[in-house]
Amino acid sequence: MVTVTVHSGRERPIIQRHPWVFSGAIAAVRGNPAPGEVVEVYSQDGSWLARGFWSSSSQLRVRLATWDATQPLDETWLRDTIARAVSGRERWLIDPAIACRLVFSESDGLPGLIVDRYGCYLVIQLLTQAMAVRAEQVVAALIDLLAPRGIYERSDADVREKEDLPIVAGLRWGEQPPRMPVRPISALGQMATGLRMFADVTTGQKTGIYLDQAINHARVGAYCNGAEVLDCFSYAGGFALAAARAGACRLTLVDASADALALAGENLRLNKLTTSAEFVVGDAFHILRQYRNEQRQFDVVILDPPKFAYQQTHLQRATRGYKDINLQALHLIRPGGILATFSCSGLVSADLFQKVVFGAAVDAGRDVQILERLTQAPDHPVLLSFPEAEYLKGFICRVW
Ligand code: SAH
Repeated sequence: MVTVTVHSGRERPIIQRHPWVFSGAIAAVRGNPAPGEVVEVYSQDGSWLARGFWSSSSQLRVRLATWDATQPLDETWLRDTIARAVSGRERWLIDPAIACRLVFSESDGLPGLIVDRYGCYLVIQLLTQAMAVRAEQVVAALIDLLAPRGIYERSDADVREKEDLPIVAGLRWGEQPPRMPVRPISALGQMATGLRMFADVTTGQKTGIYLDQAINHARVGAYCNGAEVLDCFSYAGGFALAAARAGACRLTLVDASADALALAGENLRLNKLTTSAEFVVGDAFHILRQYRNEQRQFDVVILDPPKFAYQQTHLQRATRGYKDINLQALHLIRPGGILATFSCSGLVSADLFQKVVFGAAVDAGRDVQILERLTQAPDHPVLLSFPEAEYLKGFICRVW
């Protein structure tokens, strides 16, 4: 048995069930834990605090998974915890074509495990040593619980490098997932009219599509009736589709990826949306400036850029980037129009993001009102003991 003792004064977050123990909090390790091995965490006075998984390379040295001394972290625990996560999403699973996150890592008590469902197929990401060494157990539990047609692994996220794990992607079990139309969870309750999107889980960004924005697509769409809409960083057009469905009169989609825009065009056709649409391949920073020079105006501008801040030292550059695109976007909005602006950088808090948008509003000389505050979809829950899980924030603003 491996035991890890934390420095005195570092027990509190552990007792409050925060799942991370950083290397700096560790006073001593007894035993020689293998990557992903179960370890027991103790305080300096010798009381047992929690049980978790060892990482040999990450600064996040232990990920805690149980605070019940009688609970072993074995295969039964893994299966039961996945089953609990799935049971919390039952209302979304009634539609066989639904795409939805089934396991969201720490928030579902399974640090390092992501499971996304795309219709009859599952996509997994094993992002910690603990999950990587338990890959077979994860796959067996998923087959048993969900009887999928195939399980595809997309462990091609950068965080694997911190865990000293190779970047891997490929079929884990069953049939290779085809490119397929799926329904994001925003379609719930309106199955007949709900939008569908093509997902290619083998080549798509993230695990296929941006499931975390599913509800926000519809929320932003609600402001788009009769509007000229600019969807920047559109990817496969999640926002543009919702805008078109809501009665937008004209769409402009901007993305650096030509493939993403091709997919967006197919998604419009899939949903029989004939709204006039312009697809612009290029750097949104540059295109926003160009539109300003051309004095183009829109009723709704959407900004959903990729993550700008991966670590604390990126924060300043990230906030400059956010301010820049928001400033440029504000210049393009007709008085009374809408800015829907997002940040998926976990390190940029909603507070900071609001300040950045405020700074842009001051420089643009526009009055900006927040109408709605948005966050990630409910299949990406935020565990109260782990607020770090909240990474996506957005505002729908009225711009005067
Ligand atoms: N809005 C999408 C998700 C966007 S993800 C949705 O709701 O589904 C971010 C997108 O930004 C990616 O498609 C990526 O190709 C694109 N991107 C990254 N850098 C860019 C840049 N500088 N200019 C334009 N697009 C960029």
